[in-house]
Formats: sequence, structure tokens, C-alpha cells
Amino acid sequence: MKHTQSCPKCSGSGLVRGEDGIDDICPECNGKGFVTFTSKDKIFESSFMKIVLFSVLFLIIFYSLFAISITIFRFNFTVEIILLFIGHAALATILISYLMLKSLSDGSSAG
Ligand SMILES: [Zn+2]
Repeated sequence: MKHTQSCPKCSGSGLVRGEDGIDDICPECNGKGFVTFTSKDKIFESSFMKIVLFSVLFLIIFYSLFAISITIFRFNFTVEIILLFIGHAALATILISYLMLKSLSDGSSAG
């Protein structure tokens, strides 16, 4: 979710006094006088997309390696099931630790 706030740099005027004493368009808000910032919802959304992308990539790589190793090594059914389980458990572990790190860093940066 996006929020709009009066620009703190130019206090809403859209102009800043440059070093040469001439008013210039505020680089913070591009002269609009307000800034839009993304809330935690947006951060969550983007990290959620990262997680989804990562999971998809991980599964594609995992299943490719799995298919290749099955063709090469000709595992029996039990070994295949164990390998599949390990792969998904690894993915779940990575995702859970990522989410935990994410929530920890969000908590500390929120102040
Ligand atoms: Zn500004």
C-alpha cells in the first residue's frame, strides 16, 4: 500500500534552495511537494514475490536434478521418496529462515 506524505526535504513546496542560492526542483519529490512511500504491506508484497520466485526456481532446479539423478542412478522408489522429501524440507527450511530473518530485520529497522 502506498502512502503520501508532505515532502520533508522541501516541506511541501517542491523547491529547494540550492548551494548557488537559486531555488531548484526538489530532488526528493521531483517538485511535487509530496512523497509517496511504501508501507510494510508493500515490503511484504515484494518479499512475498521474491519467496514465490525463489520457490519456483528452487523447485525447477530441484526437479531437474532429481530427474537427472533418477535417470543416471536408477534409485529405487523409497530413495526417490526420501530425496523428494529432503528437497521439500530444505525448501521449507530456507523459506522459514528467510521469513524469520526478514521479520527480525523489519522489527529492528522500524525503530
Ligand atoms: Zn520535496
